[in-house]
Amino acid sequence: MQFTDLGLCAEIQRAVAEQGYDTPTPIQQQAIPAVMTGRDLMATAQTGTGKTAGFTLPILHRLASGPNDRLTRISKAPRVLVLVPTRELAIQVEESVRTYGKHLPINSLAVFGGVGINPQIANLRRGVDILVATPGRLLDHLQQRTVDLSRIEIFVLDEADRMLDMGFIRDIRKVIALLPKQRQNLMFSATFSPEIRELANSLLHNPASVDVAPRNTAAETVTQRVIETDREKKKALLCHLFETRGWHQVLIFARTKHGADALARTLDKAGIKAAAIHGDKSQGARTRVLSEFKEGKLVALVATDIAARGIDIDALPYVINYELPNVAEDYVHRIGRTGRAGMEGEAISLVCHDERANLRDIEKLIKRSLERVVIEGFEQSAQAAPRPVQPPRGGRKPAQQPGRAPAKKAGAGKSDGQRAHRSGTRHH
Ligand code: AMP
Repeated sequence: MQFTDLGLCAEIQRAVAEQGYDTPTPIQQQAIPAVMTGRDLMATAQTGTGKTAGFTLPILHRLASGPNDRLTRISKAPRVLVLVPTRELAIQVEESVRTYGKHLPINSLAVFGGVGINPQIANLRRGVDILVATPGRLLDHLQQRTVDLSRIEIFVLDEADRMLDMGFIRDIRKVIALLPKQRQNLMFSATFSPEIRELANSLLHNPASVDVAPRNTAAETVTQRVIETDREKKKALLCHLFETRGWHQVLIFARTKHGADALARTLDKAGIKAAAIHGDKSQGARTRVLSEFKEGKLVALVATDIAARGIDIDALPYVINYELPNVAEDYVHRIGRTGRAGMEGEAISLVCHDERANLRDIEKLIKRSLERVVIEGFEQSAQAAPRPVQPPRGGRKPAQQPGRAPAKKAGAGKSDGQRAHRSGTRHH
């Protein structure tokens, strides 16, 4: 697909060509046609995906080709409002608008705090079509009645997850309450947490949804390894890794809420300060656990995939897949939590026999095979052990052979590794 296939008006196509772009990025391919039709949009995309042009181009197209074009309109009030969390982003987005709209008679302005308000007021008076704003300064303007939001046709909430992290939710709601009911809404977020979902539900009507997987390139700064082991050795192996490697700030993924809780308890008992974070925890508990983890009071955080989407921690050094996800794309989401912003990161997956198919799917998706590592004492046995979660009828322990002593190495027992490990260490 080429930009010329998207049906953007000639002036915009010219500006895009002048930038040297001929192929739209995945988010642009999906978002541009949806926004051009006037639909609401929910897009999960990070910076670097081309998301800014993904909304700027179709918005410019709508303004330029709609009935209310600049030649016929009377009001000087803005028609588009883009709300962003930071002044840097405000400047960047407004620059994009300028770049792509340079052959169109469309005015834009960025307003943000930390600078004088009077020049902004003067610019607003002259007339602005596209207003890019941070919430605080926008509210200042609203209070002083120096901006009129009653003509907004398109509202964009950019980096919504960061806005929530920064505590802007009430400001956002105040702004939304002042917008005309009839409008197009676009929302962008790097993550899709329950809070983002809630905000999206209240803001968007029948949205088109676009999900651009996190940059697979994140993997380039992340060392990815697989430790082949047995399911029942995993807990002991994890404790061993903590003890021998002096880990801190480790995000561990478990498949289920129950599994996450159990693992956090095990680690805690082993003297590794840990907590679990998942959908059953209250918002308050999640916020507390997360800040303890960020401050380093917790060494390990055990999370489910869903809960982790809302976690934004810069430069997380380690991600551990205690269990591989069922969906290969989730692996990419998981390891995207480390190696951010060019920092080195390490992602380790503990893989047992019955996860081999999941591993194959992941390697197919990321188009590379992952390095295998064997840790002495925790080697994968030649055959898969029966799964302890599926006891045979009658509730008997599977494959437990009476009279057979647990193997000497910690966690080498086949039926219930954790117990074998504990009794093993006690006897030593
Ligand atoms: P963003 O994700 O919006 O911050 O954009 C990331 C960078 O990609 C910006 O520097 C854009 O100028 C650039 N960019 C946006 N769209 C394209 C495209 N279709 N082809 C090449 N580069 C692009």
